[in-house]
Amino acid sequence: MLISEQKPIEEILSYLNGEEKVFLVGCGGCAEGCRSGGMQQAMEMKEKLEQAGKTVTGISVIDFACNEQLVRLTLQPYECSIVDSDSLLVLSCGIGVQAAAAVVDRMVHPGCNTISLGGRHGEWHDGERCQECGQCVLEYTGGICPIARCAKQILHGPCGGSVEGRCEVSPDLPCGWQLILDRLTRIGRLDILTDVVPPKNWGVSLTGGPPTVPIKKR
Ligand code: SF4
Ligand code: SF4
Repeated sequence: MLISEQKPIEEILSYLNGEEKVFLVGCGGCAEGCRSGGMQQAMEMKEKLEQAGKTVTGISVIDFACNEQLVRLTLQPYECSIVDSDSLLVLSCGIGVQAAAAVVDRMVHPGCNTISLGGRHGEWHDGERCQECGQCVLEYTGGICPIARCAKQILHGPCGGSVEGRCEVSPDLPCGWQLILDRLTRIGRLDILTDVVPPKNWGVSLTGGPPTVPIKKR
């Protein structure tokens, strides 16, 4: 179970700056268990967004938002509402946000921070997608996690070593930052890369932060 908590409403509203219509996605799995993204929290979020002058075009609470195929199937009937929206706000762990970003060519905002694995990873079919950093940065990276998908966990852009879209550390894997650039290009939001992102506070992750390389003393 992935442990997540909702981001402060002020932070969520700052993501929605300049947007009017938003489609809400929740998760009936871990996020419901954590009370960060089940139906009740989605309804409460709808009220807060409407109080702030936003229009909520629809709500879908997916049984397991970390399952990309399930997200695709569940969101299909809402296609018209989603096309009519400026963005999606996803109340789930980081994997659910990335699953939504993988199936919808729209801006996808993370509504939660994932703070701990809590025992079991999500249902993404091929590899790890969230390292429970406690301060989700998917807002700034097109809904693709630079911590899970970049070998150097770089938060502010590519290292420059990628060749033909592959990672210089593991050429068998795609460069995470190339994926980020491709998606931001696809949704017409490359401008996000000019946002100044606050320094990351690794202290809020219950996993204890990124792996460190031991430095040998002379
Ligand atoms: S930035 Fe990545 S590691 Fe951190 S919560 Fe979001 S998806 Fe998970
Ligand atoms: S090549 Fe891409 S994924 Fe690999 S370390 Fe550099 S930026 Fe990260």
